[in-house]
Amino acid sequence: MKFRTLQNLAPQHHQHSTSIITASSNKIPHLIVGAGLAGCLLAWRLQQAGQRFILIGSSAMPSAFGVAAGVINPVTGRWMTKTWNFGPLLPKVVETYRAIEQQFGIQVYRPIPEIRFCQNAEDLKRVGRRMRNPRYQNVLSHMAVAGEAAPEFNDDFGTFRIDQAAYVDLPLVVQTLRASFAALGQFRDETFLHSELQPAANGWQYRDLHADKVIFCEGAAMRDNPWFKNLPLKPAKGETLLCQSPALRLPQKLYHHKKWFLPYPDGSFRIGATYDESDLSDAPTEAKKDELLKAAHVALKEPHQVEVTAHLSGIRPSSLDSRPIIGAHPTELGLYLLNGLGSKGASTAPSMTQQLTEHILKKSPIENEVNLVRFD
Ligand SMILES: Cc1cc2nc3c(=O)[nH]c(=O)nc-3n(C[C@H](O)[C@H](O)[C@H](O)COP(=O)(O)OP(=O)(O)OC[C@H]3O[C@@H](n4cnc5c(N)ncnc54)[C@H](O)[C@@H]3O)c2cc1C
Repeated sequence: MKFRTLQNLAPQHHQHSTSIITASSNKIPHLIVGAGLAGCLLAWRLQQAGQRFILIGSSAMPSAFGVAAGVINPVTGRWMTKTWNFGPLLPKVVETYRAIEQQFGIQVYRPIPEIRFCQNAEDLKRVGRRMRNPRYQNVLSHMAVAGEAAPEFNDDFGTFRIDQAAYVDLPLVVQTLRASFAALGQFRDETFLHSELQPAANGWQYRDLHADKVIFCEGAAMRDNPWFKNLPLKPAKGETLLCQSPALRLPQKLYHHKKWFLPYPDGSFRIGATYDESDLSDAPTEAKKDELLKAAHVALKEPHQVEVTAHLSGIRPSSLDSRPIIGAHPTELGLYLLNGLGSKGASTAPSMTQQLTEHILKKSPIENEVNLVRFD
């Protein structure tokens, strides 16, 4: 599907000369739509650059950030491959979340040792090969024989350690940033209606706002955006369980035993995540809850009474080529997009928001690999 076709679907207003700015219009340089991870970090970057903006996002609408464990995992998937661009992304990750921690006096970025269980003899061979590969030397270490690394888990084939893993408290990042923007009158907790965005002289009019630029950070809801909905998102629903088990006290490590287990300092833990490209409904399902609980019972050595305290679902805004999608609309002056963060928003959002900010403010080029025009 060609990106070029987008313009056919968008409202037909290419001239930007029709609307009249009323006296009550608030003129702002940037209007950001979608106050999830991408929208909030982008707004924060603009604020750091001394720019004014209004951020519109609805806390009543579904989002991915509220469901995610926020794990940053350098080696992922069945084939245990190194995460795209992990080396270049990591310094920006640490710098960004640490700066937010310092500014607001919160803790959001938590490095954590990760233990991955081999599921069969083939896994064991594969990890051996990876460990001999120089590309993996800074992220893989400590192979342990079966039963040695984590006594709480069934372990028939041995484990290895993934270094440089971490998790980010994404809900805390978003809630903190939203609250700080709200205190400045720059956050509106409401649903954005695309039908009310109209081209205006040198910009776009949305209700009382006249914005030079509108930046869409809508996650999976991009499918309803008339200007960008033909970009190839490949959304995937995921569900996670927040659990408690009085007799189970897992050390603070991330365990990957087909599903992952993430213990929190208060003794609770999260199990995740399911993956489904066919059901894109918002609600969590009993079937996926059973899948996760079954995975827990298979992974844990002793039978444990597991109480589910929260069952959450969300849609990952993945893209067809598993890369972020950012940049300017090819024909509609002043419209921008940041999307396609998929299942890796915690690690990609810091760099992608910086790249888009510099593009908007300084016209810096966007890397070809993530630029939305690659779909043209
Ligand atoms: C089950 C699951 C597990 C995950 N685990 C991880 C993980 O471990 N590590 C990781 O890095 N990532 C993980 N992710 C992915 C991560 O959540 C996303 O990459 C990230 O949240 C994407 O950020 P976003 O801002 O693009 O989208 P979102 O977080 O979905 O935010 C978009 C926001 O825009 C709002 N919005 C959209 N349209 C409108 C509108 N018209 N009006 C008002 N508001 C609107 C939405 O309501 C939402 O709040 C997971 C996702 C899921 C579903």
